[in-house]
Amino acid sequence: MSKELLKWYDLNKRDLPWRMTKDPYKIWLSEIMLQQTQVTTVISYFNRFVDAFPSVEALALATEEQVFKLWEGLGYYSRAKNLIRCAHKVVTDYHGKFPENIEDLLKLPGIGPYTAGAIASIAFDKPEPAVDGNVLRVVSRLYCLSEPINESKHQALYRQKTMALMTDRPSDFTQAMMELGAMVCTPKGPSCSSCPLIEKCCSFKSKKQANFPVKVKKVKQREELIGIAIVVSGQQVLLMKHNNTGLLANLWGFPRVLLDETALDSLEKQMESHLEMEFDFQPEYSHSIVGKAHVFTHIKWNTILFFFHTDDKISSEMPLLEWVYLKDITSKALPTALKKQLVIIDDEIDRMQNAIR
Ligand code: SF4
Repeated sequence: MSKELLKWYDLNKRDLPWRMTKDPYKIWLSEIMLQQTQVTTVISYFNRFVDAFPSVEALALATEEQVFKLWEGLGYYSRAKNLIRCAHKVVTDYHGKFPENIEDLLKLPGIGPYTAGAIASIAFDKPEPAVDGNVLRVVSRLYCLSEPINESKHQALYRQKTMALMTDRPSDFTQAMMELGAMVCTPKGPSCSSCPLIEKCCSFKSKKQANFPVKVKKVKQREELIGIAIVVSGQQVLLMKHNNTGLLANLWGFPRVLLDETALDSLEKQMESHLEMEFDFQPEYSHSIVGKAHVFTHIKWNTILFFFHTDDKISSEMPLLEWVYLKDITSKALPTALKKQLVIIDDEIDRMQNAIR
């Protein structure tokens, strides 16, 4: 299969300026420019850039203004900023020579697993996989892989499948896979009749090319503003056990309420009303602060911590409620969304108690 792929590549590859060289600087430059940008757009930018800065040392000496001027129109200025940072690091830490191994490449600004694999294989002929969107599409169709390509837990599988095809010409192999994805195994209507992998392609044989690659639809995340009541009495704090349904089923936590920023009642009033209605309880309000946000799969909680104190303890016989010593809170099964608030809560309770004294 790989031999057929390379044969096809030798005959059909496009003459792109970064294919005329093995200079890691130019390979790196082209890979950064090609992120989110079409090949046809990149060609002229690449040529102008290389004319102005023929080496990584020259780029490291350039001002941000000079680089941004040449980058104008390519968008995503964070790429240009990382380009400058990376050039500086290569010059100062690696004496102007790009490292050859993946571990060191990954330490450079703006270089992730894909770009590291591309530089290692294309410039240094190392058998490292470089798996971009094109390669993911080819591999998923070739093997009928139904694991979604946009879930990070499956990246290892796709890298492994790509590696299984690796040849003794890693540089050409990487470029051939990308070229095949870009020119033949295109997202819509792949030209299977011109494909060197047709004989072995699972999705072609089963006529299911359109079913691959599989992508999971990103669930739209909803944001909620959650009020959390920290009610303190002496050295104890009020905890409640959540019932067996919902996000925090069966876990312990603090009384909480979904706040409505558009309501007439202030947020503090909404929290107080919740305590009163839910537990027939009116502790004395002290203050509130913004807590840490927490992201569940499809909900983001922005939190406000409301601090109260009371001498008049609510009965702990009330189902699902318990007064717990501050030092013992962590012995309860608390959800991460609340555990991450504990440091703030500890400090604030200290402040509150000092103020009361
Ligand atoms: Fe893609 Fe068709 Fe080639 Fe299979 S045969 S890899 S679907 S172009």
